[in-house]
Amino acid sequence: MLLRSLQAPLLLLQRLMEAAQVVTSNGNADGDYQYEIISWFDSVSKNAAMVQTETLGQILHLNYGVEYLKKWFGDMKIQDMDACALESLYASLVPLASHADFEPFIQRIADGDTAPILTQQPITTLSLSSGTTEGRQKLLPFTRHSSQTTLHIYRLAAAYRSRVYPIREGGRILEFIYSSKQLKTKGGLTAGTATTHYYASEEFNIKQEKTKSFTCSPQEVIFGVAYKQSTYCHLLLGLLFWDEVELIASTFAYSIVQAFATFEEQWEEICSDIKDGTLSSRITLPRMRKAVLDIISPSPCLASQIEAICRDSKASNWYGIVPRLWPNAKYVYSIMTGSMQPYLKKLKHYAASLPLVSADYGSTEGWIGVNLDPCLPPEDVNFAVIPTFSYFEFIPLNKKKQDLTSGTVGYIEDEPVPLSQVKIGQEYELVLTTFTGLYRYRLGDVVEVAGFHNGTPKLNFIFRRELILTVNIDKNTENDLQLAVERGSEVLNKYGGELVDFTSHAEVMHQPGHYMIYWEIKGEVEERVLGECCGVMDASFVDHGYVVSRRTSSIGPLELCIVETGTFNKVLDYFIGNGAALGQFKTPRCTNNHILLRILNLCTIKRFHSTAYN
Ligand code: AMP
Repeated sequence: MLLRSLQAPLLLLQRLMEAAQVVTSNGNADGDYQYEIISWFDSVSKNAAMVQTETLGQILHLNYGVEYLKKWFGDMKIQDMDACALESLYASLVPLASHADFEPFIQRIADGDTAPILTQQPITTLSLSSGTTEGRQKLLPFTRHSSQTTLHIYRLAAAYRSRVYPIREGGRILEFIYSSKQLKTKGGLTAGTATTHYYASEEFNIKQEKTKSFTCSPQEVIFGVAYKQSTYCHLLLGLLFWDEVELIASTFAYSIVQAFATFEEQWEEICSDIKDGTLSSRITLPRMRKAVLDIISPSPCLASQIEAICRDSKASNWYGIVPRLWPNAKYVYSIMTGSMQPYLKKLKHYAASLPLVSADYGSTEGWIGVNLDPCLPPEDVNFAVIPTFSYFEFIPLNKKKQDLTSGTVGYIEDEPVPLSQVKIGQEYELVLTTFTGLYRYRLGDVVEVAGFHNGTPKLNFIFRRELILTVNIDKNTENDLQLAVERGSEVLNKYGGELVDFTSHAEVMHQPGHYMIYWEIKGEVEERVLGECCGVMDASFVDHGYVVSRRTSSIGPLELCIVETGTFNKVLDYFIGNGAALGQFKTPRCTNNHILLRILNLCTIKRFHSTAYN
């Protein structure tokens, strides 16, 4: 099979991408499109192995001769090679790489080097990853392909969702979405979060027009870069359009929980604005003020209805506030897996009977998989890999029985396998080769193959690999930490307390090192209870290295630090000040960042030391 023969399937994808952009006046066009996009996915997933080989061929063909690939391919003429042979050659010549390997190349692009470094097409935009997982934002290439795949996965997922939860055409989405600052690099390239680029792209408007679902807030609110002001306006406008709202959405669940925490505080002010058609002096950005004031007008009846609902809901701690305020909403839609799981409880509380639909799996590097089963509870959701978006490889990870050495944590790695060779039940680290110029890039996410949709794997997201607590021979992942915190917060809940947010740190400056867990809580609980929570968490880390070290006191007692109310908002403000966007924010679950630790330690009001191993 010659690479030239790849044109047919690629044309199919191109045709769909173009179809997604044609805004027709035909009322049925979207129904037809939904049928077409589902058939398309059926076809590419049935032929996932071949499609992957062809996708790799296309990426290499498009970027033939770029500096990064030249390093490994030399002057080899790949154009006339058989696609399968090229796939094997690629894996044998091009090494696995991490972001650090790409950093010097991306930096040169950021500094204005226009030579074909990673891609033949010049890169004019760079994305900033949220940086809240590793504590450091990464710069990554962003191209038109990135926005197109965002639109494509959005429409694919929407087609599957509409089978179960159809929404009314012409309705609105109360979307808690936020752009980041858009910076200019030294070389004049625009840099911002990937979602920011998407909201600014033509594709975002196309999505609204094609799905005939419009976000409640104008661009000035989304692009305000002042998340508190944007949240206020999102809520205000969402309430103004209350009867048109068909769903409530955000990128990550955190933003919805954050928005309703704001609502609990500011609902009276919002009601007063709705009543009088005014806008709170909290909104200081002139463009945002004007855009919102242009939409609102006095609505005293609506304001008093909302007020009545709020007074009543407040008495039940805001249980079920979402369906009460938006009775026509069909579901809440957001990423609820992975590091968002701790917010699920609060989200369920606000949503009550309203279904929660967990959104798709992607990263700043590229989209990965789509949720084909919107009815599944968020805890059970998996993601079918879209084989045309990138070339995916999977590093098999097998847990070490006894991991007493340092190095790559707790796992023995096997040779990467292509998508066609993954096995159900096996855990893997994902490796991406993208149209945006990343080649065999280790994403750092651990996934488990849950099953298959036709020939493409469905993945459970397990955790991010590099996020671990370790003092010496102990190794705990984000997942282990999450489980321990869950056990501890069960005790807290039993006594009427509520965990608002948490993070952790492995303290190794003083001997013996120990784990510190920072909790922000709501509600009055006795110190005795918090001491018990601390001990329960310590005992819940079952990693062999940790248990042995605790027994021999080479790791000290776990320390629970209770921070004052609002501390995690300060953490959020710190990240937003450094260019993150609320929409992509994930509380770092483990940190070594000095500034963050300073904020946490200054805000600590109580400390408890575990007695679990006394
Ligand atoms: P960023 O590029 O910084 O916005 O973050 C991307 C990362 O967020 C991914 O690599 C995952 O670790 C995590 N992530 C994205 N989507 C999901 C999802 N649906 N479930 C769990 N984690 C996700």
